[in-house]
Amino acid sequence: KEEKSLNFIEEIVEADLQAGKYTQIITRFPPEPNGYLHIGHASSICLNFGLTKKFPGYTNLRFDDTNPVTEDTEYVESIKNDIRWMGFEWEHELYASDYFDTLYQYAIELINKGLAYVDDSTSEEIALLKGTPTEPGKDNIYRSRSVEENLTLFEKMRNGEFPDGSRTLRAKIDMGHINMLMRDPILYRIKHAHHHRTGNKWCIYPMYDFAHGQSDSIETVTHSICTLEFVPHRELYDWIIEKLGIYPSHQYEFARRNLNYTVTSKRKLLQLVQEKHVNGWDDPRMPTISGLRRRGYTPESIRDFCERIGVARRENMIDVGLLEFCVREDLNKKALRRMVVLDPLKVVITNFPEGVTEMCHSENNPEDIATGNREIPFSREIYIEKEDFMETPSKKYFRLAPGKMVRLKSAYIIQCDDFVKDENGEITEVRCSYIENSKSGQDTTGINVKGTLHWVSVPHAHEIEVRLYDRLFSVEDPSSEEGDFKDYINPNSLEVITGYAEPALSEAKEGESFQFLRKGYFAKDPDSSTEKLVFNRTVTLRDNWAR
Ligand code: ATP
Ligand code: MG
Ligand code: MG
Repeated sequence: KEEKSLNFIEEIVEADLQAGKYTQIITRFPPEPNGYLHIGHASSICLNFGLTKKFPGYTNLRFDDTNPVTEDTEYVESIKNDIRWMGFEWEHELYASDYFDTLYQYAIELINKGLAYVDDSTSEEIALLKGTPTEPGKDNIYRSRSVEENLTLFEKMRNGEFPDGSRTLRAKIDMGHINMLMRDPILYRIKHAHHHRTGNKWCIYPMYDFAHGQSDSIETVTHSICTLEFVPHRELYDWIIEKLGIYPSHQYEFARRNLNYTVTSKRKLLQLVQEKHVNGWDDPRMPTISGLRRRGYTPESIRDFCERIGVARRENMIDVGLLEFCVREDLNKKALRRMVVLDPLKVVITNFPEGVTEMCHSENNPEDIATGNREIPFSREIYIEKEDFMETPSKKYFRLAPGKMVRLKSAYIIQCDDFVKDENGEITEVRCSYIENSKSGQDTTGINVKGTLHWVSVPHAHEIEVRLYDRLFSVEDPSSEEGDFKDYINPNSLEVITGYAEPALSEAKEGESFQFLRKGYFAKDPDSSTEKLVFNRTVTLRDNWAR
């Protein structure tokens, strides 16, 4: 593999290590367990875990579970499963909620230093005195409370003596600060809610800004990487760490990765699930890691995608075509080839004896000779795709047409002699003769045909369910359109059809991927039973070979 240049975060890390600032680095991936991971998270995973693969050090998995209302252990399990599936392993599994006691002590320390106060204002009152980007905010009467009064009130907050929303703990910084986030930010709020790990122990919960940096510091994270919207938070991140005099972690920001024709926000994805626009978080149309996995994406293809899009300083939209390119590249090397007809048209080979089965042999994967060959039964009646026959073909049509010849993949050359139409003018059957001595691998006819078709023997065909997917949204950026993002859902994102498969496909294992010749890559879905196989189309082929 060619040497790739470092991204800007890797450059920072390398410089820090060379300068002797650290002997090893510690990064963390900090999901909030309020949904399943999506392709944007994959970028962050590859970046954080990738750094400590490249440089000495390790990466923690830290659940950022400071909001009791939206979090769930189902999400915790899915997140761990998805990270491992992506090929990464964390050093420590940690929970911000495990630091609630420490964070509470930190808050008391700030109060004691005169750097935090209990505010009795409602959120509306707080907003009113906050000022605007061009106008300073104003101090309120609570700001000058004594340390003792603050300590007493904060303890009462903790003991559950006040209702939700009635009081907050705020940092005492500067209501005239140019950075709005530094205008006495809220550190704690009252929320009488059950937490998925701490149960009912707490009724006050730290805000993001009073949990994230402190958690980083407790874990001695050296490089805390987050997305660009946290740039204005960095000043507060540094302020709290400095005032507490705790381990100085540092925050670095990179651009959020967005994919077109979908949404990458857990809140929006949750709506799609709850309102049943999709069949769960792992619906193959979802941009979640679990959805992509079920669709047939491989960890290698997702890592390759993240590597190719790299780490940027500015936000932009990434074309889903690149993700599709990456999975084709990977599956082309790995997927076994099978023949499946998705839209059947019967072909009768009139000069082939009735009731006879002849075996043909075909390579499992021409990209990987070690996968060997398989047997494919051939008989007098076969299916081809409807689109592979034309009554009156155009000049460039090299498939089947009256009087024309094509090769059946790994079998014989056939010639079309006749066809049958029903009363509606629809072609129901094509009648052909096969050319003797033209079998693939032992062809002595010298006949040169341009088209090669996939096919399946009718009496040997296995009926399978095939799920064909299209983009979930019909516009590139549904979140930026007028109205609700769900108004732009593509109503035809799923089509379920019956396919006719060669017998070898029945040996498919769950999740296994195949190339259905000329039709794309397909993965066996967990909905499959012994009676009926179900396949998801991962992606079509770039272009059909031998048209
Ligand atoms: P969402 O909007 O989907 O809820 P989030 O940032 O709130 O996203 P977290 O669970 O907090 O989700 O994310 C965990 C980590 O993944 C964070 O460090 C976050 O910056 C990163 N991350 C989330 N979404 C993206 C994205 N689209 N591109 C890159 N990194 C992302
Ligand atoms: Mg977050
Ligand atoms: Mg979020």
